[in-house]
Amino acid sequence: MEEIERHPMDELLRTERLPHIWCPGCGLGTALSCFVSALMRSGLDLNKVAIVSGIGCTGRVAGYLRLDGFHTTHGRAIPFATGLKLANPDLKVVVFSGDGDLVAIGGNHLIHAARRNMDMTVICVNNFNYGMTGGQVGPTTPTEARTSTSPRGNLEHPFNIPNLVFAAGATYVARWTVLHARRLERSIYKALLKPGFSVVEIISPCPTLYVRFNRKRLEGGDALKYYQEHSVIRHDAKPWEVDIELGGEIICGEFVDIERPTFQNRLQEMYGELRPCEDLGLLHRPSAEVATSFEVEIELREEKPVAAPTRVKPLAVGGAGRVEVRLGGFGGQGIILSGKIVGKAAALYDGREVTLTQSYGPESRGGACSTALIISDEAIPYPHVTRPAVMALMSQEAYTTYHSQLTEGGLLLIDADLVEPDPSADQHVVPIPATRIAEQELGRRIVANIVMLGALTALSDVVSEEAMRKSILESVPKGTEELNMKAFQRGYEYAKRMLAGESA
Ligand code: SF4
Repeated sequence: MEEIERHPMDELLRTERLPHIWCPGCGLGTALSCFVSALMRSGLDLNKVAIVSGIGCTGRVAGYLRLDGFHTTHGRAIPFATGLKLANPDLKVVVFSGDGDLVAIGGNHLIHAARRNMDMTVICVNNFNYGMTGGQVGPTTPTEARTSTSPRGNLEHPFNIPNLVFAAGATYVARWTVLHARRLERSIYKALLKPGFSVVEIISPCPTLYVRFNRKRLEGGDALKYYQEHSVIRHDAKPWEVDIELGGEIICGEFVDIERPTFQNRLQEMYGELRPCEDLGLLHRPSAEVATSFEVEIELREEKPVAAPTRVKPLAVGGAGRVEVRLGGFGGQGIILSGKIVGKAAALYDGREVTLTQSYGPESRGGACSTALIISDEAIPYPHVTRPAVMALMSQEAYTTYHSQLTEGGLLLIDADLVEPDPSADQHVVPIPATRIAEQELGRRIVANIVMLGALTALSDVVSEEAMRKSILESVPKGTEELNMKAFQRGYEYAKRMLAGESA
């Protein structure tokens, strides 16, 4: 068989995900290939380019590009991108999404990111309707245009995207149709290299819906022919002059190219050199002072001997397949941090798939909180935890709320001094005096959660011991690594001795 040559763009495409889902005649393929060409030409280090998409037909782009990326929730591409850029200022962050996602549901984020002049590029594909969900009226649908939810014609005035982002503060704004592929590529190239909030609007046909609904007014429905006959290039046009009317001309060009200090410039002025937050020790690492401030006042019960339960055994729940884990307690015990440590250990060091969800009350200290993980050898389609096989509960409220969720034969660790288990519940309960060990042996109650993680590691195979040690070192505040490793070791040994039937 004849060998199929690689396409020059294959390097930047996740070819294993092709063929794409877009309809025949859709303009999204052209928009994507213009972006890929511009990016390849830009000379940017591809290891430092991140792509973020929201939901919709255009939102698929992040999944098709072989770049670090996020396919985020509806309308929230810009907040995700903002977080990325703030956490790692070295990244070139690109948001690639549709008009519905960016201008309606995410409209507020769009104008505020432009106002702040966040250093990122936004590629907005405007097909005048919500394509993926059935062709509903959207924020850029021209007045009188028909959609599935405006069968007699749209009553509303649409947003003019260039004017909106210009008024909000964008530094570079251009608009092209997919027919203007070379000019479009050039504008994307410029936008990628422009400091500040740069926006390229791409007018793109949705032949399946918008074009079909408006065939009459779009002169037969040949969208590219329509673009050819109705688009005018006017680089000097003022953004407020480039409204798009149904059946009217489409003014294209580079409308804005100005200099303004970016948010990052101002940040740098105020705080000095900008570095990735990992370098600054900020990534999941609250300062030791912050950690200390979370110590909470709790009363240990009168000391009582903790009997080694006869039913403790290593639990082979995580070795294969999937396991759900829940950690619970109250704010200030480091429950959320514990979840992140377990998740990071399983995902980064054991190489498994992990999801993590959290719930906590409005109080920063003392309120109920819980974190739930799914750890699996396969992709996890839905992160909701319903039947954990392993739980560690460190408050009476968490025990009361969650203990009945434990799967039959599951492992339930409780803080021996803070939880009184229900004697009628037929469950595999292992009391670990984590808070007592942390306070009386290690001198810091704040590490009780890590003592508990040591016990959890010893009694189950949810995560490997080596992965947990690495994850703890990566996650705890600088300067507390030794204390936390001691806490982990103590919890681990305590549980191992229980297993061996020795006095802990
Ligand atoms: S529904 Fe419209 S926008 Fe979505 S893929 Fe099909 S043609 Fe493209």
